[in-house]
Amino acid sequence: MTSQELLYEGKAKKVFDTDVPGTVIVEFKDDATALNGEKRGRIAEKGIANAAISSKLFPLLEAQGIPTHFREQLDARRLAVDLLQMIPLEVVVRNRVAGSLEKRTGLQEGTVLDKAVLELYFKNDQLGDPLLNDDHIEVLGLANSAMLQQLRIQAMKINTILTAFFAQRQLILVDFKLEFGLRDGQLVLGDEISPDTCRIWDENTLKKLDKDRFRRDLGGVEEAYHEVLTRVLS
Ligand code: UDP
Repeated sequence: MTSQELLYEGKAKKVFDTDVPGTVIVEFKDDATALNGEKRGRIAEKGIANAAISSKLFPLLEAQGIPTHFREQLDARRLAVDLLQMIPLEVVVRNRVAGSLEKRTGLQEGTVLDKAVLELYFKNDQLGDPLLNDDHIEVLGLANSAMLQQLRIQAMKINTILTAFFAQRQLILVDFKLEFGLRDGQLVLGDEISPDTCRIWDENTLKKLDKDRFRRDLGGVEEAYHEVLTRVLS
């Protein structure tokens, strides 16, 4: 497979076309942004950690019946994935209070939620990725109710699988963001699963091992990504 023209460049990844129809290459960068792009920086070897973590987690999900875009890891920073028709929604699943849920509810960070909370945000930089309800999503034509129902079921199943996987490694999956797309009309998980898109805490110390270290200038960012990588591969 040969990499061809750059199709898209996002904040943390580049996507290249290939000579194989329906397959694209995702390249993970070290660039990091936060606060809607206001804060910018680099996290050394983040791309390598995130490519490896995603390459472990997508097959884990696939093996348990979740269709994903993942095909293979090509090298340290690059994955071959199926080209999806992306749904412009950020699907957030939360097991504990953190980030915007803390602000929205006033609940203390770390509070365990009685049931997992699912939120849908419009992936739209100009609008600042607003929270949407199902009616908003339908009238905007982003997804119909059957698709939304399926998306919720998949996201909750993914939460069950990932929570157990991280728990076996003494890690708490606090919350995470997923993006889905369509492949031949079928709902498929795309994007990445990494400390950029998940909040992950050490079970014993509750130390943050994710992008919050960058967002909040906590230091030890590279080490945190490396720690997650080591435990995910163990
Ligand atoms: N998240 C993400 N991309 C975004 C927004 C959120 O990957 O554009 C992830 C974030 O890392 C966290 C979860 O989604 O694991 C919930 O994020 P939250 O709504 O609390 O927003 P934040 O505090 O990150 O702005």
